[in-house]
Amino acid sequence: MKKYALPLVMLAVFEAVAFTLWLTKDNIFYLFNFSYIGCSIALGMFLYIRKYPHARRVVQLLVGLYMLVYLGLVSNENMQLEGFWYYLFTGVFEAATIHYAVAKIFGPLLFGRGWCGYACWTAMVLDLLPWKVPAAPRKKLGWIRYVTFALSLIFVSALFVSHVGNLERIMFWAFVIGNVLYYAVGIGLAYAFKDNRAFCKYICPITVFLKPMSYFALLRVKCDKQKCVSCGKCKRVCPMDVDVTDNSRKRKNGTECILCMECVRNCPKKAL
Ligand code: SF4
Ligand code: SF4
Ligand code: SF4
Repeated sequence: MKKYALPLVMLAVFEAVAFTLWLTKDNIFYLFNFSYIGCSIALGMFLYIRKYPHARRVVQLLVGLYMLVYLGLVSNENMQLEGFWYYLFTGVFEAATIHYAVAKIFGPLLFGRGWCGYACWTAMVLDLLPWKVPAAPRKKLGWIRYVTFALSLIFVSALFVSHVGNLERIMFWAFVIGNVLYYAVGIGLAYAFKDNRAFCKYICPITVFLKPMSYFALLRVKCDKQKCVSCGKCKRVCPMDVDVTDNSRKRKNGTECILCMECVRNCPKKAL
């Protein structure tokens, strides 16, 4: 049972959030929503422990499709960055604001960029592409994320300042068009750089929240220096170019780790 402690802890954390929000907001949706996500993540961890090779993909599809199709398209909740600004400006602590608080702002203090490895519906599609390991060293294009972040904020601010009507409808279409754009740019960049995660590394505005918070993450991959033989395999299989054998928080690309566990699975000495 001991080896299943982590999925159980993760499930307990999500259930705590589910019950707290259900009771404080008097809305049973939160119980369903966070229980579903918690169960999906715990199932993925369980499958991983059982050495099922596609465990992460199962969680990505369960959570990513639920958020994209059910929350986004069916329930009209804009869960993208624009939705976060929108709900924040309207002073509503619901949907996207709660989602961002849990998955992308405070959650990363606990589980780092687990969102990026297991739940993001953009990466859910990008990870299907063939360039799982980057073909070339990382480019110095990370500054683009600050531009997309600023554009997102300016777009929603402009809607509020100009008192545009029917904002709910606009936010729905912003969600649809934003996702189509993300997929198009993400697939184009992956093809151009031969790197599935190029979009995550250079363009995604959400990393402006994710990177600094995940610097302090409790959950992170560490290296047992006694076992490590410096073969370098972990770095060769890492989709995010993380120097995972360096245990310090300042390790190269440390805030890029998406906890995909490819390095752990491939280490011949079980040093990670
Ligand atoms: S970096 Fe952005 S696009 Fe990539 S997985 Fe994370 S949230 Fe999704
Ligand atoms: S794959 Fe394992 S043994 Fe090789 S460098 Fe990485 S941690 Fe060390
Ligand atoms: S391969 Fe290891 S270091 Fe690289 S992103 Fe995945 S878990 Fe993190």
